[in-house]
Amino acid sequence: MDQVKQMYINGEWVAAESGETLSVTNPATGETVGAVTFGDNRDAAKAIDAAHAAFASWSRLTARERSKYLYNLYELVRNSRDELAGIISAEMGKPLREAKGEVLGAADNFMWYAEEAKRVYGETIPSSVPNKRIMVLRQPVGVVGAITPWNFPVNMVARKIAPALAAGCTVVLKPAESTPLSAIRLFELIEQAGFPKGVVNLVIGKPEAIGQEFIDNPKLSKIGFTGSTRVGKLLMEGAAKQVKRVSMELGGHAPFIVFDDADLDAAVEGLFESKFRNSGQMCICTNRLYVQEGVADAFTEKLVERLKKAKVGDGRLKDTEIGPLVNERALAKVLEHIDDAKAKGGVLAAGGNRLVEGDYARGFYCEPTLITDVTGDMKIANEETFGPVVPLIRFSDEKEVVKQANDTRYGLAAYVYTRDNARCFQMAEQLEYGIVGINDGSPTQTQAPFGGFKESGIGREGGHFGLDEYLETKFVSFGV
Ligand code: ADP
Repeated sequence: MDQVKQMYINGEWVAAESGETLSVTNPATGETVGAVTFGDNRDAAKAIDAAHAAFASWSRLTARERSKYLYNLYELVRNSRDELAGIISAEMGKPLREAKGEVLGAADNFMWYAEEAKRVYGETIPSSVPNKRIMVLRQPVGVVGAITPWNFPVNMVARKIAPALAAGCTVVLKPAESTPLSAIRLFELIEQAGFPKGVVNLVIGKPEAIGQEFIDNPKLSKIGFTGSTRVGKLLMEGAAKQVKRVSMELGGHAPFIVFDDADLDAAVEGLFESKFRNSGQMCICTNRLYVQEGVADAFTEKLVERLKKAKVGDGRLKDTEIGPLVNERALAKVLEHIDDAKAKGGVLAAGGNRLVEGDYARGFYCEPTLITDVTGDMKIANEETFGPVVPLIRFSDEKEVVKQANDTRYGLAAYVYTRDNARCFQMAEQLEYGIVGINDGSPTQTQAPFGGFKESGIGREGGHFGLDEYLETKFVSFGV
């Protein structure tokens, strides 16, 4: 095994104050793939000090100058695509093809915000008082503490640090415990890109202790988080004490609605994309599939056929479509949702079991699963499953399905398949979700705002909306 990898604070690779380490395992094989230093609030405090000291000069650079560093990083990340993808796949199990797509997505964020950095425009506003002039400035919020999950371990980092750096903020990043190796490789590229010391820092360690330091340390102005609704709420509560800014991308419970007039083949592919990509471990994953009566049998048949063909395996093998779940706990939750549905009358139309033969025994694999005869009291109908299991619910009436689709505390993504133009617009307007995919099972793009209604979060990532999250608005009133 390689030596213990370190964190990156104030332009130096350093070990945790505590001297603790953590090993990283491949969920496909159970093998150890690396070890990292594992710190706590003390390391976070040092990183915040460094970011705070660097803020004065970084925020005063011209946008064009900041943009150059982001362009450098874009090139470096793009050129390291295969290597980064290999690390992602080894530490969290996703198929290489998907991991490569993720890395290109991350690179795209660095390029897009390198451009957008130059377009942080203020305003002048006509005053109603003759001897006053109104000017509006947009300025960086200050030091940002970013906390990211393991399901998109590189792109989630990019989506936070690219707009933050473009805006003129400095950053302390805490990646997820299961995926620090890809974050470390990304920070090696950040170092190569030449960012001044202290501008971007990496702290790896105990989530609660580091999160608390982000909350308590007055030098940190904003918390950007992607993860569970539970932790997001804790961070929001904590941030309230100093009225710190927050952006939160939290859980989801996406409905996927197939109408009688839909192109069924496209709908099956869209569903496959939205439910089984990343082994169902995305916050925008379909969690409830609603199919209109007239096509329910035909759709079910096509979907079962697709699931039977799906290749489940080690993400590093070329033809794998669905990798393992990230760890044993994740697998246990998925199996619990399947068992609960079965106990309450759900019928398995495909899959339903952990895969245990041969090489599968070493990893955390679940068959792609379709459950029919689903009722509202099942866990799967209410809680985020985060795995390759889809419950199918039949419906007849459009109004009724909208009501059911909206009947959740989440509001991240929703999907609709129909060929009726008027219905497309009605559904887009009526669904209480931050993202609506109409005949699109994969609605994410760098330029577009990504984020949720209700308990799915606050704020948006992506596009110019993503940059706004790292800017304060200042009103300057001139007496003339
Ligand atoms: P998941 O269950 O999908 O891992 P979490 O919300 O637990 O989602 O994790 C997302 C990120 O939040 C990870 O980086 C994790 O280390 C971090 N995290 C977990 N608990 C806390 C906490 N109490 N304070 C701050 N960060 C936390």
